This record gives sequence, C-alpha cells and structure tokens, in this order.
Amino acid sequence: MPLTRDMRVKILPIPVLSNNYSYLVIDTGSGQAAVVDPSDPLAVQAAIEEEGVMLEAIFCTHKHCGGNAALRQQHGSCKVYGSTLDAIPELTNPLEDKEKVKVGCLSFEALATPGHTVGHMVYVLDGEPFGAPPCLFSGDLLFLAGCGRLFEGSPETMLASLDVAVGLGEDTLLWPGHEYALECLTFASLLELDNPALEQKLQWAMQQRQEKRSTCPSTLGEEQTYNPFLRTHRPELQAALGLRRGGGEHPDAFRARVLKEVRRRKDLYKPT
Ligand SMILES: [Zn+2]
Repeated sequence: MPLTRDMRVKILPIPVLSNNYSYLVIDTGSGQAAVVDPSDPLAVQAAIEEEGVMLEAIFCTHKHCGGNAALRQQHGSCKVYGSTLDAIPELTNPLEDKEKVKVGCLSFEALATPGHTVGHMVYVLDGEPFGAPPCLFSGDLLFLAGCGRLFEGSPETMLASLDVAVGLGEDTLLWPGHEYALECLTFASLLELDNPALEQKLQWAMQQRQEKRSTCPSTLGEEQTYNPFLRTHRPELQAALGLRRGGGEHPDAFRARVLKEVRRRKDLYKPT
C-alpha cells in the first residue's frame, strides 16, 4: 500500500468499569476503526459516535471480555476476532497465532499468549507505516508493572508468553487491559527496595492518578526496569525473594520458579 499523508492512526484509551481499558484504534484516513476488549459497549459506542468512525473489528484478548453482542447489534458488519480456545462471545473470525488482520490501512498481528486463560491473545499494531513504534494491546497478559493472574496456565506457560511480549522490542508501546499501575508499582517497590527506576515510576504514577490521568502507554524497555514479572532473570530480584538457582536447574525453569513466587506474593498482597 502506498504511503500517503492520510495514513494516520489514532489510539483512544477508553476507561470502562472500575479499572478496565478498552481501546478504539482509528485509521483516520478512512474512518475505519477497531476496538480492543469492549467490556462496556455503551462507553465504546459513545466514543465511536464522538469520533464519527465505522467499527470494523472487535479484537478480544480473552473470554473475560464482554460487550460484543451489544456492539454487533449496532454494527452489523463488524467482525469479532479472538482465539477459539477461549469462549469468546459472538466470535466470527477465529485467529491462529501470528495471524494478521487489516482494518483500513492498520495492520494487526495476533499472538497466542496463554497463561491467564488458555486462549489469551495479544494484538500488535504495526507502527512502521506511520513511522511509529509497534503498539501492544496486552489484555490481561501484561500490565504496567504487573501481569495477569494465572487462572489457566502454569508459571512456565506465563513466562513463555511474557517472553513473546518482550521479544517485540524495547520501543514497543504497552496498552494494557487494566489501570493497575499504582497497585502494581507499590507491590513491586516492596520487593525491590533499591530500584531508582521503580521509585521514579511510582512517584510519576501517583501524580498521574492524583490528576485522574491514565498511566498508559509505557514502553517494554521501561517495563523491564521495574516490572518484577519481566525481571525474573535479575539477581537483585532473585535475592530479594530469597531464591537461588539449583545445581543443574535450567535457567528458564528457575525463572519460572521466580515468576511463581512473585505471582504468589502478589496474589496475597492487599493494597492499603
Ligand atoms: Zn481476565
């Protein structure tokens, strides 16, 4: 497709329910749009009307996402994408790992990232046509400083999925499924007591949330400096957890053990 000056993308985070994010992604040249995880169809519909765009696609990261039926009633031609391994409501177009979908001039790639649920998928918007970094819509795989709960996967499975995300590159923008930054950063700061990047991000997030602003997007590069779930290879985190690699233990098996322990502590953690 030739590059024209009309080729622009607009990403609109829509805060819904208590702490969820839906994202409206718009090809501004054609007015065609996709939405990621439309949990509150009324809020998403309001954004669609305000922007005056045509909804072509709903991308579901996993089965906990609702709102598909209500939106399809208003947008009959809109397709619903996701994995068949999750019971996605109203699924019309099942996707395989690494399958690509075009919406206007926007190109998305679906990546299978099981762990939170067996059929969890993330969606990567190719930024290259716009001279922009890739955008990762991570659902409940990865949050700012956090990761999803292991409802249907082992720590090994989740670790492999997080590695897929990290493999997208440090400049990738992270657009997560929830606004959990403050809770996750606070928890992380209780694990790693001496991490200036973490401390700085926590201060920044406190300010943002005080002003009722969103904390997304961060970058995958940044995340690796403070997100404990992406730091399972770091000796300082391993030491803080009191874990040591066993003789003959495979490095990835050890990292999975570290991940399991961080997850266990996070599940027990109650924000004050
Ligand atoms: Zn979920």
